[in-house]
Order: sequence, then structure tokens, then C-alpha cells
Amino acid sequence: MLKTHSCGELRGEHVGQVVKLAGWVSRRRDMGGVIFIDLRDRNGKTQVVIDSGRSQENFDLAQQIRSEYVLQITGEVVRRLAGQENPNLPTGDIEVTATEVTVLNPAKTPPFQIDRETAVDESLRLKFRYLDLRRERLQRNIILRHKAIKFIRDFLDQRDFVEIETPILFKSTPEGARDYLVPSRVHPGKFYALPQSPQQLKQLLMVAGYERYFQIARCFRDEDLRADRQPEFTQLDMEISFVERDDILDLIEALMVGMVKEVSLVPLASAQFPRISYREAMERFGTDRPDLRYGLELVDISDIAGKSAFRVFAENAAAGNPVKAIRVPGCGNYSRKEVSELEEIAKANGAKGLATMALDPDTGEMKGFITKFFTVDQLIALTERLEAEPGDLLLFASDEKLVVYAVLGALREEMGRRLGLKDTNELSFCWVIDFPLFEETLEDEHYAPSHHMFTAPKRAHIPLLDTDPHAVLSEQYDLVCNGFEVAGGSIRIHERPLQRKIMELIGFSWEEAEEQFGHMLEAFEYGAPPHGGIAPGIDRIVALMAGEPNIREVMAFPKTAQATDLMSDTPSYVAQKQLDELQLAVLSQEE
Ligand code: ASP
Repeated sequence: MLKTHSCGELRGEHVGQVVKLAGWVSRRRDMGGVIFIDLRDRNGKTQVVIDSGRSQENFDLAQQIRSEYVLQITGEVVRRLAGQENPNLPTGDIEVTATEVTVLNPAKTPPFQIDRETAVDESLRLKFRYLDLRRERLQRNIILRHKAIKFIRDFLDQRDFVEIETPILFKSTPEGARDYLVPSRVHPGKFYALPQSPQQLKQLLMVAGYERYFQIARCFRDEDLRADRQPEFTQLDMEISFVERDDILDLIEALMVGMVKEVSLVPLASAQFPRISYREAMERFGTDRPDLRYGLELVDISDIAGKSAFRVFAENAAAGNPVKAIRVPGCGNYSRKEVSELEEIAKANGAKGLATMALDPDTGEMKGFITKFFTVDQLIALTERLEAEPGDLLLFASDEKLVVYAVLGALREEMGRRLGLKDTNELSFCWVIDFPLFEETLEDEHYAPSHHMFTAPKRAHIPLLDTDPHAVLSEQYDLVCNGFEVAGGSIRIHERPLQRKIMELIGFSWEEAEEQFGHMLEAFEYGAPPHGGIAPGIDRIVALMAGEPNIREVMAFPKTAQATDLMSDTPSYVAQKQLDELQLAVLSQEE
């Protein structure tokens, strides 16, 4: 090794030893005759002293040295003079007096400060990712990620799981997104698909008898671009045979609690994760990924508002649609402009408008355009139902229930943010269970799987598949943390006839089902055990544990929201020869 110790290692007990260190120049201070260098490596920093009195040659060399130069230093560990210790640095009691200084490599001036957490434009950070990764924040995150994955591997290994790799070049697996395709050179016109997840393969591993499988799996989805989405991401992919739902929930809960305790910078709100039905989540929070760090719950007021003279409420209630409200403490003084900002959010989520009431902070008197449509008794009943207090703002929605959920769910989230209720110093987990098998949509014609087509309906609901498919509940479960879906899974279908039936309901013809999923359907005829699984998203969970708002901060080489890599300029054009070999023609190119 070019070094005997790391830059974070030396302490008082090493005083008197001759050591070799190697690392980057974090900072250099020229005190005239003496130069101090903070030498940094992954483990920390050590102060190196280069004294012209000891060696003019070393001193002259040190004068040329700049930030981020790579140095090797030989020297003696000495105790710092009394009063000169640096209590902020683990190595702050000592310094190394250099006897030899070697520049292993000079460095250009970096485009941003490595040593200090300054605000840097993210595209610059992504272009020079290898320098960004040298900074403390990312180093901490990347190492935290390593520890999380190590914890997962150890935890599952102790519980008899087998880690199995599955192919990256495979057949299209429908998880609802678009596939990334890879053309085959040897089979012109044919394509592989990068896996959206190893879903089919892990189920086939259950048919193969492995019983407990996991993999730290890369997944690829060519979805519409969004600020915080990555075209490739990592899941802890798992599948277990002979289990029931609660076995999986208990196992994952133990894994999460153990992992958070061991590696997370942000603590758990509770080691018991509440289990909430999909229906309850929608009714109370307007979303199936509720953020339980704060209240602002949706309250049903259909019975009261339905009797009011406000036509929209009365008509909706009469039609069986809900009238719901949330109470926002202390926002009764919102200006017209602030209320219209909220109205915009409501409209963006499908509302035709936003009805509000404000309670006067002093008198508690209820104000707002719609109050005049309510009798005094109705207003009192509303106040009681909502537990409203002077100074509160009340936000109402009435429409088809999915619109009401979307509108008030979005407003709840917005107000949680505005009121600073999203405590960044806690991880609040919950399970959402008892999902409908088919997605609830405004038009009821189409049956799209709520999770994916391999998810089992609840046994008792199977007969409903023939009569009322939208009433069928499934064995799907999602793990939610701070408003993010951090894992999704289900007990699977393991019988061919049922799988075929679900495929048909989703809209696959006999031929399509055989062509795309023939291998799965066939496998189910060779003794497929009952099985189920789940796939926690590693990037998001690590971001939450690191207290980072964005998954890019916990990925070594993330892509931009436009799915590009700024460092290597990817995606990029390829040589005509490569296209020819693949028998591909490009019809148009980006400007
Ligand atoms: N394959 C699923 C997903 O990626 C997870 C699972 O059902 O295990 O969401």
C-alpha cells in the first residue's frame, strides 16, 4: 500500500510513529515558512505540516500544491501544541510533520468546492459526478446505501433466503410501463426487453422449488419523465412459497425496523406499522400512500351538506357522491390569492372549483360564499363534525368519489407542506392492504390490474369475477413511508385457470396470452406452490433513511429527469455500422 494509515485514523496514541498517508488536498494554508495541508481520504482528514526549516525542497514543492492534488506524505505523528487541537476533527489532537512529500497527481481546479457543502447547480454536479461523489454528503449517502444492502443480505441470509440473479436480457414483463428494448443482432427483427422487474422469473423460481428468493435487482421502466423518477432503479426483489399475506408483512416489518435501527440517520416514528385498508386510506387521506406524519384528515360531511341549500353539495349527496372537507388550522386568514392557489390545485386534480369557509379568529364566525346556504344548525353541526376552531380554514370537495379523493388528497398534502407538518426527522411507515384487484377508474369499462396481473384475488371474492369484477378485493399490499410507496407486493395466482381468467378480464385474447405468457401458464401446470412476494424500492428507502428529498442523492450515477447521463452524454448516437449490423434504420433524430 502507498499508505500505512488512513487519513481518519491517527490519534494521540500514534504520537512518535513514522507514517505514510495518501489522499487529496482538502485545504492548503501558507503561513509563511510553514504550510498546513488538510489531507483527505474516504476515512477523514489529517493535518500535515510542511516546514521550510526541515526541508526547503518539500516546502518549495508544497507551494505548488493546490486543492485536490493527490499526495503521498511520509512523516512523524506529533501532538499539536496545547490550544491548537481541533475538537471537530477525530484526528484533531495530532498532526503529521512531513519528511517526504510526493505529488502522485496534480488536479485542475474543480468546478465547485469539494470541501464545503455549497449550493451547486445540479447539472454541474451530475456532469462532474466523480467530484460530487468525493464530497461528504454523497459519500455519506453511498456508504449508508452499502450498509443498508449489507443489512438486507445478512438479514435474509439468516432467514434461509437464497440470492439468485435473473437475466437482464429477457422478455417484456408487463408492470404497466413501457419496456426498454434491446435489438437482437443474431435474430434480426427480434428484441429483448430489459426487465421492468424480475416478476415472472421470481415466480418461476418458486415453481422451481427455491421457496425463499431475493435479489438486489435492477429494474428498467421507460415511463413518462418526472422530476423524481429514474429509468433504472433498484429493488429488493423477493418471493416466498407457502406463505400468507401476514407472513410477508411481518417479515418486511422486521427487516425495515432492524435496518432503520442499524443504519438510518432518521429514526422510526413507531416500530409497529399500522395496517390500513385501501378504502380507509382513500377515505381518510384521499390517497393510497398516506403520509401519517400529520392529520388534516378528510371528514365526510355528506349528511350535513346534503341537506344544505348549496346545490352542488345537495345534488351530489343525493346522487350518492360524497361531500368531504378538511380542516386546516390557523389558515382562516388566507388571502384571496392564497385561496385561489389552492383552487388551482383542486382544479388540476379534477375539481370544478373549490368551496371554502373560514372561521374568524376572534369571533369564530363562519365566512365564505357558501355559508349563506347553510342554516345555523347546519353550521354548528359542521363545526362539531370537523372539530373546527376560530382561525381555521375549511376546504370542501364534492364530486364523484375518486375526484373528491384526488382533490382533497392533493390539498392535504399541500397544506401539510405549507404548515411544515412533514417532520423530516421521522420515518412513519404503514401498510395499505385490501386493494381492489382492478384499478378504480372514473369509467368502469376497463379492467386494469391495480398491482399487476399475477396478483391473486381474495379467495372468497373469486365468484365476483363473473358478476362484479370491480368489487373484487385482492391480496395486494403496499408499504408506505412518509407519503411514498416504498414497497409493493402480493400473494400470487398459482393456478392456470384463474390466471387465464384474469388475463382475459384485463383484455388479452387467448392467442396473446399464450404468446406472451405461455411459459408462465405452462409452468403453473407443473406443480406451482402457493406463493407471494414483494419488492421494496431501495433508492427511495435509502433516500428516506439519509434524510434526502430526492433519490438521485443516493445513487452513484443517476440520470437527469430527462433520462440523460450528463457525465457521459448518454443516450448518444451510434455508428451507422452498428445500426446496419442490427438491421435498424433511424427515421428521425433529435435536433
Ligand atoms: N414486481 C412488483 C413490482 O415491481 C413487485 C412484486 O409484486 O413483487 O412492483
